[in-house]
Amino acid sequence: MQTTVNPHAEVLALSQSLLRFDTINPPGDESRCMAFLADLLRQQGYTVHLQRFGERRFNLLARLAGSRSDTPPLAFTGHLDTVPLGNAQWQFDAFAGDIVEGRLYGRGSSDMKAAIAAFIVACRQQRQAIEAGSGVVLILTGGEETGCDGARALISEASEHLPKIGALIVGEPTANYPIIGHKGALWLRCETHGKTAHGAMPELGINAIYLAAEAIGKIRYFEPGAPHPLMKRPTLNVGTISGGLNINSVPDRSRFDVDIRTAPNLRHDDIRQRLSAAMGDSVSVTTLVDLPSILTEPGNGWIRQVFSRCEPLHDAPLQPRVVPYFTDASLLLDALGSPPCIILGPGEPSMAHQTDEYCRVDKLIQAVMLYGQIILDWGASRE
Ligand SMILES: [Zn+2]
Repeated sequence: MQTTVNPHAEVLALSQSLLRFDTINPPGDESRCMAFLADLLRQQGYTVHLQRFGERRFNLLARLAGSRSDTPPLAFTGHLDTVPLGNAQWQFDAFAGDIVEGRLYGRGSSDMKAAIAAFIVACRQQRQAIEAGSGVVLILTGGEETGCDGARALISEASEHLPKIGALIVGEPTANYPIIGHKGALWLRCETHGKTAHGAMPELGINAIYLAAEAIGKIRYFEPGAPHPLMKRPTLNVGTISGGLNINSVPDRSRFDVDIRTAPNLRHDDIRQRLSAAMGDSVSVTTLVDLPSILTEPGNGWIRQVFSRCEPLHDAPLQPRVVPYFTDASLLLDALGSPPCIILGPGEPSMAHQTDEYCRVDKLIQAVMLYGQIILDWGASRE
């Protein structure tokens, strides 16, 4: 018996189901959430591959095959992990999926479980077109919030399951505004080594915290490189510092981490080398995260088509825009054959990682429609 499903109710219910899994990272645990999605997608006709990349850590690749092999499939990607709740008290239950005054509340609502629900529902609605066309691939990752750990495991250990795809949609929160690229990230760990001594006789030691402080002073106004026309200036921030064991000793070790955000006109090797030289020999530098920036030309035919679909949803004409934060696309694009990529999701960009995070219900419904149109256009433009 064929049952008709109300897509509005369906996307809200699926978003709520995803929000009810605690996938806070760190520590990170996508196991139950991914098992739930694997079951759901299998029921909808997908071939599913679950990839384990750590204790209770999972990625999921799902493919709904099409009948045409002459064109590559469209792909959607999203991460199921979320950031922690933070210290401030939440007014709403972070794991209940409450809907109040047109807002769906919960950790991960905007960033980005609602988007994942939206593209799964859009694919279910357009299943016939997908199967008559070139198919669709869903790349659901874990571990994104700590530096794309899931995506990294996917490309290094399960790349045989990653097909070449025609275009990639990343459902990160953009309030349904199409974003054509994002900055790269270079995270460096800097360490200084001194010589310990009694705190009452500091002249006998070498204070590693002083060495770190001097090095930080030297890089505070460091310029990682020239501005990029769209991405503007690269940035640098010292995010953490630690050192010393007790107040009455000269510390012999100190450590600080530097977060640099870059653009396609800059080479990470070059930045690292210049930064290291600026700090001098007393600092050893190791790379923690190295993610390239991404940018698809605004003139690309598919990008223009997506823009034309988004245009009616916004008050002013759309501009080619980029965002400063990174996404899994940074690692995935290369493995997927470097297709054009758009970042487009119903979440509120300002709500990501916030207390009482929510996603607007009207944007979520809009996203289901928008993703559906993009799926249909993909089939139609290649007939
Ligand atoms: Zn995110």
